[in-house]
This record gives sequence, structure tokens and C-alpha cells, in this order.
Amino acid sequence: MKGMMMQRPLRIADILEFGAEQYPRGEIISVRTEGDLHRYTYPQAAARTRQLANGLLAKGVEMGDRIATLAWNGYRHFELYYAIQGIGAICHTINPRLSPEQLIYIINHAEDKMLCLDTTFIPLIAAVKDHLPKDLTYVIMVDKDKMPADLPFEALCYEDLLDGQPDTIEWPEFDENTACGLCYTSGTTGNPKGALYTHRSTVLHAMMIVVMQTSSFVEGGKVLPVVPLFHVNAWGLPYSAPLAGLSIVFPGAALDGENLFKLMDSEGVYSAWGVPTIWMGLMAEIQKQGRMPNGFKDVVVGGSACPRSLMKAFEERGASVSHAWGMTEMSPVGSHGVIPAWMNDAPLEERLDMKQRQGRRCFGVEFKIVDEDGKRQPHDGKHSGELFVRGNTVVSGYFKNEEATKKALDAEGWFGTGDVASIDHNGILTISDRAKDLVKSGGEWISSIDLENLAMAHPAVANAAVIAVPHKKWDERPVLVAVARGEEKPSLEAMQEHMSEHFAKWQLPDDILWVDQLPLTATGKVSKLTLRQTFKDYVHPDER
Ligand code: ADP
Repeated sequence: MKGMMMQRPLRIADILEFGAEQYPRGEIISVRTEGDLHRYTYPQAAARTRQLANGLLAKGVEMGDRIATLAWNGYRHFELYYAIQGIGAICHTINPRLSPEQLIYIINHAEDKMLCLDTTFIPLIAAVKDHLPKDLTYVIMVDKDKMPADLPFEALCYEDLLDGQPDTIEWPEFDENTACGLCYTSGTTGNPKGALYTHRSTVLHAMMIVVMQTSSFVEGGKVLPVVPLFHVNAWGLPYSAPLAGLSIVFPGAALDGENLFKLMDSEGVYSAWGVPTIWMGLMAEIQKQGRMPNGFKDVVVGGSACPRSLMKAFEERGASVSHAWGMTEMSPVGSHGVIPAWMNDAPLEERLDMKQRQGRRCFGVEFKIVDEDGKRQPHDGKHSGELFVRGNTVVSGYFKNEEATKKALDAEGWFGTGDVASIDHNGILTISDRAKDLVKSGGEWISSIDLENLAMAHPAVANAAVIAVPHKKWDERPVLVAVARGEEKPSLEAMQEHMSEHFAKWQLPDDILWVDQLPLTATGKVSKLTLRQTFKDYVHPDER
């Protein structure tokens, strides 16, 4: 028997309308590329978002169109999120740290109709423009009087899209499974793959993290996403904050410790979210200043495991640190590191033991760990295996990529995360290793396999493997382990030069270790496990 309840579609537009109505004092504060600090309230943000939506419709944007953004964290980027998605189009957030090759690939693959960019990224786009779709409309996200006079390509001013448009709109009603956002993530090899979110998955994710992370979502508090809007929707914060009545502080481009400290201190930011690299920078500034930024109480760390010493440094200064674990394909949050209530009064070191783990799964996301044959392992804290996930906020495949889709899901329809994990009797997750062949530097992926292939294309290199080595600032950096074909051993600079055509500079290996041969597994593959073991005492050149 069916129940007798209404069914209303979950729509993203309703989130901001709710925030504007229920939290009219909520603010959005942004460091702008124009150089100043911009602030307005949720009702003002909602009004401009409606104007922008009308402006996009006037430009002929239709449901399902992909509108790309290449921008820092700021209020215009936030408006684009809600305006594009509100009218049923798809917001394709682009990571500016991609190599030019990958940038060209994803814009063409997504078939973007419009590209909205900060002035910072004009040179980046000018350099690849000839390879982008001919009918792409460019929009510069800047004040009218700051529009650059000598633009290398034809573009509209963002503010002209809003000008003269009404600030009211009847948001269209459509199926909640309509696509709303597109975010590409680097694979272990080849081109980036697109996660295509829906209104339903996004609204559920927003509600889910508010429920999970009650420590962060305190009405009237200010939250600062250091994690970029181009990085899995800034982990969902632009959706969760208006639901829970938090103001948002967008830091713009300057993410170094000194600038972050200043901004957080003057705004009294309560909670801030980002990768460990960012928090290392902020902690250095905190130590320099001898105090915490005013009101800072909640640090959420994701993207990589947070070093224990860093967690401790924040905890000792009165801020609570927690892990959020997840991935682009999971919207992204899958678990939140917590201190279970029964541990509230435990000594700091015991609480740190717990906080080092990745925590409780979010309601609506299920976990299983399996061995190499796909056999489920018990959740006893001892057995480990690859972590598979299932849930309403997990991708069911990749955008226009059947091959990658087939590889992503197992026979039971679960998604393989590529993370190695164990889960204990209390359901607490620990990520212990990574099965996927990737290096994560400052929160961004580098494909080991692609680097290896390119290294091996060098005539003097017979065989090569890339391993991740620990780095204080960047968490991990790639190092090349190579076997020479003959006598010649190219210098590091020569190898970097050879690889730089296909990789961004920050993705190139920092060192070469020449060996006589690479260790192999039973099946003849290079054993990364053995290599990592062999070089476990290796110290990165920056830290010698
Ligand atoms: P994001 O960096 O936004 O979390 P990505 O899709 O780029 O999303 O990366 C996801 C991967 O990052 C995970 O599969 C895992 O390897 C790693 N990761 C993310 N969060 C954590 C965490 N809290 N602890 C350890 N590893 C993490």
C-alpha cells in the first residue's frame, strides 16, 4: 500500500530562497579580484541570483546547457551556482590547476555553452582559446568599470547580464533527478572523468552534512570554505550554509597563512574547511602571531589525512579539528571524524587517536570493504580491504564515459573508492592506504601512471615508476624512480623539461632516483608497495 503524502521535487533553488527568508541577517562576505571586500545579506544574494537567472534566460540558456565557471571563491561564483542550477542548466566548475591539455579536453567534452571567468584566468583561456568550442560565450566576472580594455577575446561583462533584469522569478519546476552540476576528477590515467550531480543528490547531501557535522553548523556563525568552489562544490558548503543559517566568508585568491589569518580574524570566522596544506600555512601564522584568529573554533580537514601534530596544535589552542572523508564521486562527503559522546572526557591523546580516523559514515551512504577477490571483509577493525560505497549521493557512472563507468561499479552496483580501509565494531572508518595509483599534492591529484608513461618515452629511460613521498607543506610530492637504458642518466631538469609539455609545472616529479631494476609483483607488475617500502626513509629535497 502506498502512503498518502505529497511528493515535492528537491530543488537547489529552494535552498537559497529558504536561507534568504529564514536567515535574512545571514551574510556573504567575499574578497574580490577587484581588491576590496564585498558583503551583502542572503536576501540581497537571492535577489541578484534571480536577476542573473533572468539574464541567463535572456541570453538563451536552456535546461541541460552546460555553463562553465573558472573562478575563485566569491559571491559571483556563488550566484552562478544558484542561478544556473535554478533554471535547470548545469554548472560546470573548472579547476584552473589543470594542465592546458586537460582544460581543453574537459571544456570540449562538457560541450560548454558559456564560460564565466575571473580576470585572473584571462591569460589561461587566451592561451587555449583556439582549441575551445567556437560558439562559446565568454563572461568576465568583474565590475563594469574594471572590465579589461585589451581583452584578448570577445567577452561580456557579468554585471551586464544582471543589468535591468527583474529580481523576481518563478523558479521552474522539474524532476529532482535533473542534472545540476558537473565536476571533473583526475583518474589514475587518461582524461579527467565527470561526476554529474542531480538536484536530488545535492539537496540530500546538503541536509546530510548539516546533520553529521553539528559542530560546524551553528546558526549565526561564519564559515569559511578555503576548499574551492571548483573542488566538488567546496564540499557542499554553499548549499549547507544557507540551510543552517551560517554566513559564508569567501577568501578569493589569497590562501596563504597571513592573508587567511587576517580575514578570519577580522570577520570572526567560526568554522573553516580545507586541505591539510592550507592549515599548515595558517598554523605557521598562528605561531608567529602567538594567538588564534578571533573566534576560530572548528577546523574541518579533508582531501588528505591530517597530520597528528597539526591536529594537536589546533586542539591545544582551543579549536576542534575533524576529518571529513569523501571524494568527487560522492558529492563529496562520505564520513565525518567524530569523538563519540562516550569519549568526550577522554585525555587529548586518546581523542587524537580517534580523530586521526575518518569517522562515522553519513546517513544514506553505505560502506563495504572487500579483498582482492571482491569478498566482503568483516567490520572488526582488523580486516582491511578496498572500500566500496553506495548511496543517494554517490555517482552511478561518469558523464559521457561508458568505459570509465563500467570500471567504476562492481557486480553489486557499488562504487570502488580506491581507498584501503578498515571499519571497527563501532562503525568507525579508518583509511589506511590508497590502492589507486595517484599522488595527492596540496589537495590536487597527479596521475603516477601518466607521469611514468611520459618518463619512459624518454630515450634514455628503460623503466620508470612514480611514488608519492611525504612532504610537510604539500602532504605528498611525486618522485621518479627510474632505470637507465644505457650509460646516460638525464638530469632532473632535463626530465622535467621532457615532461612539461603534457603536465602542469606543479605536477612534475621533484627528484629522480636511479635504480638498477624495479621490483615486480608475482604477476609482473611494478610493485609500488615494495618501492614505497624501499624508499620509506627517503627525505624530500625540501626537507633535507
Ligand atoms: P576531495 O579532495 O575533495 O576529498 P577528491 O575526489 O579529489 O575529493 O579526492 C578523494 C580522495 O582523497 C579519497 O578517495 C582519499 O584518497 C583522499 N581523501 C579525502 N579525504 C580524506 C581524509 N579525510 N583522509 C584521508 N584521505 C582522504
